[in-house]
Amino acid sequence: MSQPSAKNSRPYGGRAECCRNDTCTPICPIGAKYSPDFTWNRLRGSGRITLYPRTLVRRLVLDDRSMRIARAEAVQRGPKGRSTPVELRAKTFVVAAGYVWSSHLLLLSASSRAPNGVANRSGAVGKYLVGHRNQQAFISLPLRLFPGMNGQHSLVTKQFMRTPPGDRYLRHDLRVWESSFARGPRLKADDGSLMLGDDIMRDWRERTKTGVARVRAYYDVIPDRSSELTLDAARRNAWGDPLPKLAFRDAPESAALRNYTVGAIRALFAAMAKAGGGTVLQTEEDDGPGWQDHTAGGCRMGTDPATSVVDEWGRSHDHENLFVVGAPTCVSGGCANATLTFCALALRSASEIAR
Ligand SMILES: Cc1cc2nc3c(=O)[nH]c(=O)nc-3n(C[C@H](O)[C@H](O)[C@H](O)COP(=O)(O)OP(=O)(O)OC[C@H]3O[C@@H](n4cnc5c(N)ncnc54)[C@H](O)[C@@H]3O)c2cc1C
Repeated sequence: MSQPSAKNSRPYGGRAECCRNDTCTPICPIGAKYSPDFTWNRLRGSGRITLYPRTLVRRLVLDDRSMRIARAEAVQRGPKGRSTPVELRAKTFVVAAGYVWSSHLLLLSASSRAPNGVANRSGAVGKYLVGHRNQQAFISLPLRLFPGMNGQHSLVTKQFMRTPPGDRYLRHDLRVWESSFARGPRLKADDGSLMLGDDIMRDWRERTKTGVARVRAYYDVIPDRSSELTLDAARRNAWGDPLPKLAFRDAPESAALRNYTVGAIRALFAAMAKAGGGTVLQTEEDDGPGWQDHTAGGCRMGTDPATSVVDEWGRSHDHENLFVVGAPTCVSGGCANATLTFCALALRSASEIAR
């Protein structure tokens, strides 16, 4: 199947249909890719929300007589570096600040009645940061492909997302793209001589008579509790608040599986190349060794208030009018990009908040 992506397949809400400009990563020139400004502008236009731009929430403050959140303290940046304090009072508070800044805000909100930070009686705020690592390879194939075209559009299979019963644990996704790896235009021929003008085009045409595929597998990394965000007293922002410090650590079970997982994925790439009559040109970790992608966690969801931060609705165990939504509540990075899951969880929280 094609990888699902948040782009319009037909015109919707004043936004055009995707026409595959293939510029999606830096910009969508026609607005077919999801972009929050359309959503915000529509909501603002209908008078349903007030948006406070350039406003940094610094602290959540408890009600004097209960464990409810009474207010959020923030600063609004103005011109010439000036900032004005802002205080926001509400019946319900929703922290949707991403996996770093949600935990950061809750930890910064420590007070005498919440000494470890807001929503942190369990001590789990900032713990269990999750993500996934990958292996990728470039495979030359005896096929005519078109390097650089449709770089955004991949095929994805979920075949490897379930471990067959009795097998050693192995979970990963698998995506395939056309690639311009080793098939781009070049200035120097194989013998090192400089090419100019039509020679460049002739060389490029010749080399693109066969194509290159990029294959990539994201695999599960089970986080350790000490995969964590803490406050770094030595580094502070403009208002004197400590900045976050992040350390990603695998659970021992996951660390023990790493070599096996990488080996199994590389063997799969080799088998795919062989099946297509091709050759693996290069295998590597996309974005460098040790990198974890699609990071999340820090306010993990669970039924036990002793070991988790929020319940299945994203409601904090400790404060009935405080919700956390988005990436922070995830307990596992799984083995696929998770933003659509975060959106689904946010909609679920919204229904509970409305109720
Ligand atoms: C380069 C890149 C590429 C990615 N590609 C993909 C992809 O292809 N597919 C996919 O599924 N996922 C992808 N992701 C991951 C995806 O972007 C995140 O998983 C997703 O945005 C998380 O959503 P969220 O709502 O939890 O947080 P965010 O989208 O991070 O939103 C948090 C918001 O809170 C604001 N904020 C933070 N702190 C404060 C504060 N104290 N006060 C006020 N506001 C605050 C931030 O400014 C931000 O606007 C990518 C991420 C990156 C960085």
